Amino acid sequence: MPSFSEYTLLPSLLSTLAKQGLKEPTEIQASTIPPQLKGRSVVGVSETGSGKTLAYVLPVLHELKTLETEGDPVSAAGRPRALVLTPGRELGEQVCKVFKGLTHDTRLRVRSVLGGTTKQIARQNVGGLFEVLVATPGRLVQFLDSGQLRLDDVRVLVLDEADQLLDPGFLPTAQRVVRESPPQARLAMFAATLPESLDGPLGELFATEPLRVRTRGSRHGVSTLRTDNQTVSNGKRFELLREVLLKDSSTGTLLFANTRGQCERLAEWLKDEGYAHASYMGQMESKERRANLAAFRSGEVNLLVATDLGGRGLDIDRIDRVINVHLPKDLDNYRHRSGRTARAGRSGLVVNLVTERDLPLIANLKKREDGRG
Ligand code: AMP
Repeated sequence: MPSFSEYTLLPSLLSTLAKQGLKEPTEIQASTIPPQLKGRSVVGVSETGSGKTLAYVLPVLHELKTLETEGDPVSAAGRPRALVLTPGRELGEQVCKVFKGLTHDTRLRVRSVLGGTTKQIARQNVGGLFEVLVATPGRLVQFLDSGQLRLDDVRVLVLDEADQLLDPGFLPTAQRVVRESPPQARLAMFAATLPESLDGPLGELFATEPLRVRTRGSRHGVSTLRTDNQTVSNGKRFELLREVLLKDSSTGTLLFANTRGQCERLAEWLKDEGYAHASYMGQMESKERRANLAAFRSGEVNLLVATDLGGRGLDIDRIDRVINVHLPKDLDNYRHRSGRTARAGRSGLVVNLVTERDLPLIANLKKREDGRG
């Protein structure tokens, strides 16, 4: 692997990376940063936790700071030069954090308009001069409609979790963002999975053919991730879960179910068993969701019960284990869930409680692990 210091990144970025102890780029970073620094549009697909955020954050900061030092600073309020679109607020906040961790020495301004925050806060955020905007689609559209944000000075557009942003629900916003940005703007898309069914919308967004990168990990899974399939016999799912938790309940564990009802039953059961836990579901008040996430992140509780909403975007170091109490129906959701653990080279365990109904999914997984999928 090369080292970051071999890249033509600004010295201030290289020194911040060094201060943060980041020396070697990950595979997705090594394959997408150099082409992006040369102005190339990219589509990067790699497993969750593989460092995709930094893979676009570094080129964005390098490009924008270079413009400024060459005598072309931003000159009007509400006109970002880089826009990062994320499907949800939590991911948006994480992305802002990664940017801000790198802008202390390389002084650039990062602002956000994210769903779930008040409009007033969002308005304050984008009132002045700034270079980078992190946005969720719904909130962004409101600000584009009102004219408080304009995209005519955008140099780089990033779609994070691009598979979701190309879904029919979000696609019109992604198309609008591309349309309202200058035609020469560079486009970068990153995702953990990018099904072939999205090739159509994807192709339409690029003016020129992007460099497509798919890392080895995205095909073969993460080597530090272990899987433990446990068979549920006679419908005794919770009895099996009791055994699994008795073996170890001291590690950060994400417990997944498919529906809100299943999560509620699971939470109730955990309560009866005397386990401190919290829940993380789409249907919750976002304030409660955030408080629950904070309790899990800080270690106040070790168990977090989640629907697939929790399977996307969460970057929490202390998730050592994922338990699929109810397995998802499709492989994409499975990958997103298991990608919450074994991040950035750490080890992780996925425990699957398997019923007869789940056998096709398990067979599919095995096939892929063997490299035949
Ligand atoms: P991401 O896939 O962007 O969510 O990143 C996953 C985790 O990997 C984050 O906690 C990052 O801080 C960490 N990370 C990103 N790039 C590197 C790197 N080159 N070396 C070590 N850790 C990294």
